[in-house]
Amino acid sequence: AKGAGGRRYEFFSASMQARLIERLQLENNLHKALELEEFELFYQPRVCTATGELRGVEALIRWRQPELGIVPPDKFIPLAEETGVIHAIGEWVLRTACRQNRMWQLAGYPELVMAVNFSARQFENPNLLQLFTSILNETGMAANLLEIEITEGFLMQDKQSAAEVLRKLEAMGVRISIDDFGTGYSSLSQLKDLPLHAVKIDRSFIQNIGWDETKSSIVSAVIQLAHGMGLRVVAEGVETSKEYEHLSSINCDELQGYYFSRPLPLFDMEQILRQQQPL
Ligand code: C2E
Ligand code: CA
Ligand code: CA
Ligand code: CA
Repeated sequence: AKGAGGRRYEFFSASMQARLIERLQLENNLHKALELEEFELFYQPRVCTATGELRGVEALIRWRQPELGIVPPDKFIPLAEETGVIHAIGEWVLRTACRQNRMWQLAGYPELVMAVNFSARQFENPNLLQLFTSILNETGMAANLLEIEITEGFLMQDKQSAAEVLRKLEAMGVRISIDDFGTGYSSLSQLKDLPLHAVKIDRSFIQNIGWDETKSSIVSAVIQLAHGMGLRVVAEGVETSKEYEHLSSINCDELQGYYFSRPLPLFDMEQILRQQQPL
């Protein structure tokens, strides 16, 4: 029995070692991807429900790999979070998004809000506020055109210190929104002490809204509560005209989804900006 246990231990340690090596390679690949400038931002339009006007965009990262083509964020962001590479990637995303928005502004396009996704781990950075200050200064981007998207999960970890950082960001003029709202455990009342600008209702609640009465009444109630708290409401993942019309009838402020546009590479996004028509 002793021998078998020993062998089992060796078996585990060999597979653990293999996993460790694999992770180190992936971590190394992510660092290299940054150096080789293989990351790229796509932009997904966000429109005003009432007028159809372009209000802003959400920056969504992609990894353009020479062999594999475009790798979506779900394939590497979790690993970047685990390994801590998210700090470097997140800084690149913030700087690139701010620089791009400023360039659009200088080119004379209508003012757009730039929404940037933030991972919980990025708030572990003790110099985060300094990073925001220097990137805003360096790029000339107006703080009130920057919106940070965080998830409810992040708030559950250390609500006190999270709230403090968010208040400082708000004081700088940066907007904060709750992403994927409805998928976590928090209710709107738990969010009421936070300096939030908007909630983004998760796609799972938007899908088939207008056909599904339960969903419709949940979303309608969330919108009314959010408005009562002075928050704007953005619907994510709007794919059909039916969903669009229903969200319009229950006063959802802004919409995002394939119905209006997929996330676009820079070239295609700029084509839309040049046309400057409601989507
Ligand atoms: P998310 O922030 O919830 O982003 C919305 C996701 O839904 C995007 O996937 C977008 O392409 C997709 N989407 C938008 N409209 C529709 C629609 O109408 N139908 C459907 N089926 N999907 C739609 P994407 O770009 O693959 O991003 C996945 C997730 O990766 C994001 O979810 C976000 O959590 C994360 N992510 C993306 N970029 C960044 C980043 O720069 N930093 C961090 N920390 N996370 C990022
Ligand atoms: Ca988001
Ligand atoms: Ca989301
Ligand atoms: Ca998500």
